[in-house]
Amino acid sequence: MQRNEIINWLREDDTGRLDALWRLADDARRQHVGDAVHLRGLVEISNYCRRSCTYCGLYAGNAELTRYRMTPEEILACAEKAAEYGYGTVVIQSGEDMGITADWMVDVIGRIKRQTPLAVTLSLGERSRDELALWRKAGADRYLLRFETSNARLFEAIHPSLPHERSDRFAILRSLRELGYEVGSGVMIGIPGQSFDDLADDLEWFGKLDLDMIGVGPFIPHPGTSLGASAGEQASPEQVPNTEEMTYKVLALTRLICPRSNIPSTTALATLNLAEGRELGLGRGANVIMPNVTPVKYRDLYEIYPAKACIEETAEHCCRCIRGRIKSIGRTLGVGRGDSLNYRPAATAVGPSTNSGEVS
Ligand code: SAH
Repeated sequence: MQRNEIINWLREDDTGRLDALWRLADDARRQHVGDAVHLRGLVEISNYCRRSCTYCGLYAGNAELTRYRMTPEEILACAEKAAEYGYGTVVIQSGEDMGITADWMVDVIGRIKRQTPLAVTLSLGERSRDELALWRKAGADRYLLRFETSNARLFEAIHPSLPHERSDRFAILRSLRELGYEVGSGVMIGIPGQSFDDLADDLEWFGKLDLDMIGVGPFIPHPGTSLGASAGEQASPEQVPNTEEMTYKVLALTRLICPRSNIPSTTALATLNLAEGRELGLGRGANVIMPNVTPVKYRDLYEIYPAKACIEETAEHCCRCIRGRIKSIGRTLGVGRGDSLNYRPAATAVGPSTNSGEVS
Protein backbone atom coordinates (compact mmCIF):
# COMPACT_ATOMS: atom_id res chain seq x y z
CA MET A 1 0.00 0.00 0.00
CA GLN A 2 1.31 3.42 -0.98
CA ARG A 3 2.10 5.88 1.76
CA ASN A 4 -0.36 8.47 0.49
CA GLU A 5 -3.10 5.81 0.55
CA ILE A 6 -2.29 5.09 4.19
CA ILE A 7 -2.44 8.78 5.07
CA ASN A 8 -5.70 9.24 3.16
CA TRP A 9 -7.33 6.36 5.01
CA LEU A 10 -6.12 7.67 8.35
CA ARG A 11 -7.70 11.03 7.55
CA GLU A 12 -10.88 9.61 5.97
CA ASP A 13 -14.10 10.50 7.76
CA ASP A 14 -16.75 9.52 5.21
CA THR A 15 -18.66 6.62 6.75
CA GLY A 16 -19.47 5.06 3.38
CA ARG A 17 -15.81 5.00 2.39
CA LEU A 18 -14.82 3.70 5.79
CA ASP A 19 -17.34 0.88 5.37
CA ALA A 20 -15.39 -0.05 2.25
CA LEU A 21 -12.16 -0.12 4.29
CA TRP A 22 -13.74 -2.39 6.91
CA ARG A 23 -14.89 -4.74 4.12
CA LEU A 24 -11.45 -4.83 2.49
CA ALA A 25 -9.83 -5.67 5.82
CA ASP A 26 -12.44 -8.31 6.65
CA ASP A 27 -12.03 -9.93 3.22
CA ALA A 28 -8.24 -9.98 3.58
CA ARG A 29 -8.59 -11.50 7.05
CA ARG A 30 -10.92 -14.25 5.79
CA GLN A 31 -8.78 -15.00 2.76
CA HIS A 32 -5.42 -15.13 4.55
CA VAL A 33 -6.09 -16.36 8.10
CA GLY A 34 -9.65 -17.69 7.88
CA ASP A 35 -12.60 -17.49 10.25
CA ALA A 36 -10.96 -18.99 13.34
CA VAL A 37 -10.45 -16.70 16.30
CA HIS A 38 -7.48 -17.82 18.38
CA LEU A 39 -7.70 -17.37 22.13
CA ARG A 40 -4.71 -16.54 24.31
CA GLY A 41 -5.02 -16.66 28.09
CA LEU A 42 -3.37 -13.53 29.50
CA VAL A 43 -1.66 -13.76 32.91
CA GLU A 44 -0.40 -10.48 34.35
CA ILE A 45 2.28 -11.96 36.59
CA SER A 46 3.81 -8.84 38.15
CA ASN A 47 3.21 -5.10 38.30
CA TYR A 48 6.71 -4.21 39.50
CA CYS A 49 8.49 -2.02 36.95
CA ARG A 50 11.88 -0.32 36.75
CA ARG A 51 10.76 2.10 34.01
CA SER A 52 9.27 5.57 34.16
CA CYS A 53 7.01 5.48 31.10
CA THR A 54 4.79 8.53 31.17
CA TYR A 55 1.80 6.65 29.70
CA CYS A 56 1.66 3.66 32.02
CA GLY A 57 0.22 3.38 35.52
CA LEU A 58 2.83 0.78 36.51
CA TYR A 59 5.69 3.34 36.27
CA ALA A 60 8.34 2.91 38.97
CA GLY A 61 7.54 6.17 40.77
CA ASN A 62 3.85 5.38 41.28
CA ALA A 63 3.75 5.12 45.07
CA GLU A 64 -0.05 4.74 45.07
CA LEU A 65 0.16 1.28 43.55
CA THR A 66 0.34 -1.87 45.67
CA ARG A 67 2.90 -4.11 43.99
CA TYR A 68 2.56 -7.86 43.51
CA ARG A 69 4.43 -10.69 41.87
CA MET A 70 2.68 -14.03 41.42
CA THR A 71 4.34 -17.24 42.59
CA PRO A 72 5.30 -19.93 40.06
CA GLU A 73 2.51 -22.09 41.51
CA GLU A 74 -0.07 -19.34 40.95
CA ILE A 75 1.14 -18.82 37.38
CA LEU A 76 1.00 -22.53 36.66
CA ALA A 77 -2.55 -22.74 38.01
CA CYS A 78 -3.56 -19.95 35.57
CA ALA A 79 -1.87 -21.73 32.67
CA GLU A 80 -3.68 -24.95 33.54
CA LYS A 81 -6.94 -23.07 33.64
CA ALA A 82 -6.21 -21.58 30.20
CA ALA A 83 -5.57 -25.09 28.85
CA GLU A 84 -8.79 -26.33 30.46
CA TYR A 85 -10.75 -23.56 28.71
CA GLY A 86 -9.32 -24.70 25.38
CA TYR A 87 -7.01 -21.73 24.86
CA GLY A 88 -3.95 -22.65 22.77
CA THR A 89 -1.56 -20.13 24.28
CA VAL A 90 -0.70 -18.54 27.56
CA VAL A 91 0.65 -14.98 27.45
CA ILE A 92 2.80 -14.05 30.40
CA GLN A 93 2.98 -10.31 30.86
CA SER A 94 4.48 -7.98 33.47
CA GLY A 95 6.08 -4.65 34.13
CA GLU A 96 9.82 -4.59 33.56
CA ASP A 97 10.44 -6.43 36.79
CA MET A 98 14.06 -7.31 37.50
CA GLY A 99 12.80 -9.41 40.41
CA ILE A 100 11.84 -11.79 37.62
CA THR A 101 15.27 -13.30 37.23
CA ALA A 102 16.39 -15.32 34.23
CA ASP A 103 16.48 -18.58 36.21
CA TRP A 104 13.13 -18.01 37.90
CA MET A 105 11.54 -17.52 34.49
CA VAL A 106 13.31 -20.57 33.01
CA ASP A 107 11.72 -22.63 35.78
CA VAL A 108 8.24 -21.16 35.17
CA ILE A 109 8.45 -21.70 31.40
CA GLY A 110 9.72 -25.26 31.89
CA ARG A 111 6.87 -26.13 34.22
CA ILE A 112 4.22 -24.75 31.87
CA LYS A 113 5.72 -26.59 28.91
CA ARG A 114 5.92 -29.86 30.80
CA GLN A 115 2.46 -29.71 32.31
CA THR A 116 0.35 -28.18 29.52
CA PRO A 117 0.26 -28.34 25.71
CA LEU A 118 0.22 -24.52 25.53
CA ALA A 119 2.34 -22.24 23.41
CA VAL A 120 4.07 -19.75 25.71
CA THR A 121 4.22 -16.08 24.81
CA LEU A 122 6.30 -13.71 26.92
CA SER A 123 5.74 -9.96 27.28
CA LEU A 124 8.17 -8.91 30.00
CA GLY A 125 9.60 -5.72 28.54
CA GLU A 126 13.19 -5.05 27.48
CA ARG A 127 15.43 -7.85 28.68
CA SER A 128 19.00 -8.76 27.72
CA ARG A 129 19.73 -10.95 24.72
CA ASP A 130 21.18 -13.58 27.05
CA GLU A 131 17.94 -13.75 29.03
CA LEU A 132 15.83 -13.89 25.87
CA ALA A 133 18.04 -16.73 24.58
CA LEU A 134 17.71 -18.68 27.84
CA TRP A 135 13.94 -18.34 27.83
CA ARG A 136 13.72 -19.43 24.22
CA LYS A 137 15.81 -22.46 25.05
CA ALA A 138 13.55 -23.20 28.02
CA GLY A 139 10.64 -23.45 25.59
CA ALA A 140 9.16 -19.95 25.19
CA ASP A 141 7.62 -19.74 21.71
CA ARG A 142 6.76 -16.09 21.20
CA TYR A 143 7.59 -12.61 22.49
CA LEU A 144 5.55 -9.43 22.42
CA LEU A 145 7.29 -6.07 22.59
CA ARG A 146 5.46 -3.10 21.14
CA PHE A 147 7.69 -0.35 19.76
CA GLU A 148 4.84 1.99 20.84
CA THR A 149 5.77 4.67 18.26
CA SER A 150 8.45 4.73 15.57
CA ASN A 151 9.06 8.44 16.20
CA ALA A 152 12.32 8.13 18.15
CA ARG A 153 11.98 11.52 19.82
CA LEU A 154 8.42 10.82 20.96
CA PHE A 155 9.41 7.34 22.17
CA GLU A 156 12.25 8.72 24.28
CA ALA A 157 9.89 11.37 25.71
CA ILE A 158 7.21 8.88 26.81
CA HIS A 159 9.62 6.04 27.59
CA PRO A 160 12.79 7.52 29.10
CA SER A 161 15.87 5.34 28.68
CA LEU A 162 17.47 3.96 31.82
CA PRO A 163 20.68 5.72 32.88
CA HIS A 164 23.63 4.50 30.75
CA GLU A 165 21.42 2.25 28.62
CA ARG A 166 19.66 3.56 25.53
CA SER A 167 16.39 1.74 24.77
CA ASP A 168 16.29 0.26 21.30
CA ARG A 169 13.20 -1.86 20.86
CA PHE A 170 13.88 -2.35 17.14
CA ALA A 171 17.23 -3.98 18.01
CA ILE A 172 15.49 -6.26 20.51
CA LEU A 173 12.88 -7.23 17.89
CA ARG A 174 15.75 -8.23 15.57
CA SER A 175 17.34 -10.32 18.36
CA LEU A 176 14.02 -12.05 19.04
CA ARG A 177 13.77 -12.99 15.38
CA GLU A 178 17.33 -14.32 15.34
CA LEU A 179 16.62 -16.39 18.44
CA GLY A 180 13.73 -18.05 16.63
CA TYR A 181 10.83 -16.48 18.51
CA GLU A 182 7.56 -15.68 16.82
CA VAL A 183 7.78 -11.91 17.07
CA GLY A 184 5.00 -9.49 17.99
CA SER A 185 5.01 -5.75 18.24
CA GLY A 186 2.64 -2.84 17.89
CA VAL A 187 1.81 0.71 18.87
CA MET A 188 -0.55 2.89 20.84
CA ILE A 189 -2.86 5.11 18.83
CA GLY A 190 -3.36 8.76 19.74
CA ILE A 191 -0.35 9.28 22.00
CA PRO A 192 -0.17 13.04 22.71
CA GLY A 193 2.38 14.36 20.20
CA GLN A 194 1.81 11.52 17.67
CA SER A 195 1.14 12.88 14.17
CA PHE A 196 -0.57 11.27 11.19
CA ASP A 197 2.86 11.02 9.56
CA ASP A 198 4.21 9.18 12.61
CA LEU A 199 1.34 6.71 12.50
CA ALA A 200 1.82 6.12 8.76
CA ASP A 201 5.49 5.40 9.54
CA ASP A 202 4.40 2.92 12.22
CA LEU A 203 2.20 1.08 9.72
CA GLU A 204 5.03 0.98 7.18
CA TRP A 205 7.30 -0.44 9.90
CA PHE A 206 4.83 -3.26 10.55
CA GLY A 207 5.36 -4.38 6.96
CA LYS A 208 9.14 -3.91 6.97
CA LEU A 209 9.59 -5.80 10.25
CA ASP A 210 7.61 -8.73 8.84
CA LEU A 211 5.89 -9.19 12.20
CA ASP A 212 4.10 -12.39 13.15
CA MET A 213 1.79 -10.66 15.63
CA ILE A 214 0.69 -7.03 15.76
CA GLY A 215 -1.21 -5.42 18.63
CA VAL A 216 -2.63 -1.93 18.28
CA GLY A 217 -4.83 -0.12 20.76
CA PRO A 218 -5.92 3.39 21.67
CA PHE A 219 -3.83 5.37 24.15
CA ILE A 220 -6.00 5.65 27.27
CA PRO A 221 -4.95 8.47 29.62
CA HIS A 222 -4.13 7.39 33.17
CA PRO A 223 -4.70 10.37 35.48
CA GLY A 224 -1.86 9.26 37.77
CA THR A 225 0.72 9.61 34.96
CA SER A 226 2.24 12.78 33.53
CA LEU A 227 1.04 11.98 30.01
CA GLY A 228 -2.44 11.15 31.27
CA ALA A 229 -2.67 14.38 33.22
CA SER A 230 -1.74 16.51 30.19
CA ALA A 231 -3.72 14.54 27.58
CA GLY A 232 -5.94 16.61 25.31
CA GLU A 233 -4.02 19.86 25.98
CA GLN A 234 -2.32 21.03 22.80
CA ALA A 235 -4.28 19.18 20.12
CA SER A 236 -2.93 20.31 16.73
CA PRO A 237 -4.51 19.30 13.39
CA GLU A 238 -1.63 16.83 13.03
CA GLN A 239 -2.45 15.10 16.31
CA VAL A 240 -3.84 11.58 15.89
CA PRO A 241 -7.03 11.23 18.00
CA ASN A 242 -7.11 8.33 20.48
CA THR A 243 -10.57 7.30 19.36
CA GLU A 244 -12.33 4.05 18.72
CA GLU A 245 -12.72 4.85 15.02
CA MET A 246 -9.03 5.65 14.60
CA THR A 247 -8.23 2.31 16.23
CA TYR A 248 -10.39 0.46 13.68
CA LYS A 249 -8.67 2.31 10.83
CA VAL A 250 -5.24 1.25 12.10
CA LEU A 251 -6.46 -2.30 12.70
CA ALA A 252 -7.88 -2.54 9.17
CA LEU A 253 -4.76 -1.03 7.56
CA THR A 254 -2.55 -3.37 9.60
CA ARG A 255 -4.47 -6.36 8.20
CA LEU A 256 -4.08 -5.05 4.64
CA ILE A 257 -0.35 -4.41 5.06
CA CYS A 258 0.37 -7.65 6.98
CA PRO A 259 -2.36 -10.02 5.76
CA ARG A 260 -0.92 -13.19 7.35
CA SER A 261 -0.16 -11.81 10.81
CA ASN A 262 -2.06 -12.64 13.98
CA ILE A 263 -3.81 -9.45 15.08
CA PRO A 264 -5.73 -9.20 18.37
CA SER A 265 -8.87 -7.25 19.06
CA THR A 266 -7.40 -5.65 22.17
CA THR A 267 -8.65 -5.02 25.70
CA ALA A 268 -7.94 -1.29 25.22
CA LEU A 269 -10.43 -1.30 22.34
CA ALA A 270 -13.00 -3.17 24.46
CA THR A 271 -12.42 -0.54 27.14
CA LEU A 272 -13.58 2.21 24.74
CA ASN A 273 -16.63 0.19 23.69
CA LEU A 274 -17.55 -2.52 26.16
CA ALA A 275 -20.72 -3.47 24.29
CA GLU A 276 -19.17 -4.38 20.96
CA GLY A 277 -15.56 -3.17 20.63
CA ARG A 278 -14.17 -6.69 20.54
CA GLU A 279 -16.64 -7.83 17.87
CA LEU A 280 -16.10 -4.76 15.71
CA GLY A 281 -12.35 -5.30 15.96
CA LEU A 282 -12.81 -8.90 14.81
CA GLY A 283 -14.92 -7.68 11.89
CA ARG A 284 -12.33 -5.12 10.80
CA GLY A 285 -9.15 -7.18 10.60
CA ALA A 286 -8.53 -8.92 13.92
CA ASN A 287 -8.33 -12.73 14.40
CA VAL A 288 -7.15 -13.10 18.01
CA ILE A 289 -8.59 -12.38 21.46
CA MET A 290 -6.66 -12.46 24.71
CA PRO A 291 -9.06 -13.28 27.56
CA ASN A 292 -7.66 -12.43 30.97
CA VAL A 293 -6.93 -15.40 33.24
CA THR A 294 -5.18 -13.40 35.98
CA PRO A 295 -6.61 -14.13 39.46
CA VAL A 296 -9.26 -11.50 40.26
CA LYS A 297 -7.40 -10.33 43.38
CA TYR A 298 -4.53 -9.02 41.20
CA ARG A 299 -6.49 -7.64 38.27
CA ASP A 300 -7.13 -4.11 39.48
CA LEU A 301 -3.47 -3.83 40.51
CA TYR A 302 -2.31 -4.32 36.92
CA GLU A 303 -3.66 -0.90 36.11
CA ILE A 304 -1.68 0.21 33.05
CA TYR A 305 -4.67 2.46 32.33
CA PRO A 306 -7.90 2.98 34.30
CA ALA A 307 -11.29 1.33 33.82
CA LYS A 308 -9.76 -1.60 31.94
CA ALA A 309 -12.44 -3.81 30.47
CA CYS A 310 -13.41 -7.01 32.30
CA ILE A 311 -11.49 -6.16 35.45
CA GLU A 312 -13.99 -7.77 37.81
CA GLU A 313 -14.78 -10.82 35.72
CA THR A 314 -13.48 -14.22 36.68
CA ALA A 315 -11.50 -16.20 34.12
CA GLU A 316 -14.44 -18.53 33.74
CA HIS A 317 -16.83 -15.69 33.06
CA CYS A 318 -14.44 -14.22 30.44
CA CYS A 319 -14.20 -17.60 28.77
CA ARG A 320 -17.98 -17.98 28.42
CA CYS A 321 -18.51 -14.36 27.43
CA ILE A 322 -15.87 -14.41 24.71
CA ARG A 323 -17.00 -17.71 23.21
CA GLY A 324 -20.50 -16.28 22.98
CA ARG A 325 -19.28 -13.11 21.30
CA ILE A 326 -17.28 -15.08 18.72
CA LYS A 327 -20.22 -17.30 17.84
CA SER A 328 -22.61 -14.34 17.67
CA ILE A 329 -20.67 -12.89 14.74
CA GLY A 330 -20.45 -16.19 12.86
CA ARG A 331 -16.80 -16.87 13.54
CA THR A 332 -15.29 -20.11 14.82
CA LEU A 333 -13.06 -20.91 17.79
CA GLY A 334 -9.43 -21.53 16.90
CA VAL A 335 -8.13 -25.03 17.52
CA GLY A 336 -4.57 -25.74 18.67
CA ARG A 337 -1.82 -23.21 19.31
CA GLY A 338 -2.75 -20.78 16.58
CA ASP A 339 0.80 -20.15 15.41
CA SER A 340 1.26 -17.23 13.06
CA LEU A 341 1.06 -18.25 9.40
CA ASN A 342 3.65 -15.58 8.82
CA TYR A 343 6.21 -17.31 11.04
CA ARG A 344 9.01 -18.99 9.13
CA PRO A 345 11.48 -20.71 11.44
CA ALA A 346 13.75 -21.26 8.44
CA ALA A 347 14.18 -17.52 8.06
CA THR A 348 16.04 -17.30 11.35
CA ALA A 349 19.82 -17.26 11.67
CA VAL A 350 19.92 -21.00 12.26
CA GLY A 351 17.82 -21.87 9.21
CA PRO A 352 19.14 -23.80 6.21
CA SER A 353 20.47 -21.78 3.32
CA THR A 354 20.66 -22.46 -0.38
CA ASN A 355 23.85 -22.68 -2.45
CA SER A 356 23.56 -19.06 -3.37
CA GLY A 357 23.68 -18.22 0.32
CA GLU A 358 20.09 -17.08 0.40
CA VAL A 359 17.91 -18.20 3.25
CA SER A 360 15.35 -20.62 1.88
N1 SAH B 1 6.22 -4.00 30.38
C1 SAH B 1 5.82 -4.64 29.14
C2 SAH B 1 4.32 -4.85 29.07
C3 SAH B 1 3.58 -3.55 29.11
S1 SAH B 1 1.82 -3.56 29.08
C4 SAH B 1 6.30 -3.81 27.96
O1 SAH B 1 6.64 -2.64 28.15
O2 SAH B 1 6.32 -4.35 26.87
C5 SAH B 1 1.49 -3.88 27.39
C6 SAH B 1 1.14 -2.69 26.53
O3 SAH B 1 0.11 -1.90 27.13
C7 SAH B 1 2.25 -1.69 26.28
O4 SAH B 1 3.13 -2.14 25.31
C8 SAH B 1 1.47 -0.45 25.84
O5 SAH B 1 1.37 -0.38 24.43
C9 SAH B 1 0.08 -0.68 26.45
N2 SAH B 1 -0.26 0.44 27.36
C10 SAH B 1 0.43 0.85 28.44
N3 SAH B 1 -0.15 1.96 28.97
C11 SAH B 1 -1.20 2.26 28.19
C12 SAH B 1 -2.18 3.29 28.18
N4 SAH B 1 -2.19 4.27 29.10
N5 SAH B 1 -3.13 3.27 27.21
C13 SAH B 1 -3.15 2.31 26.29
N6 SAH B 1 -2.25 1.31 26.23
C14 SAH B 1 -1.28 1.28 27.16
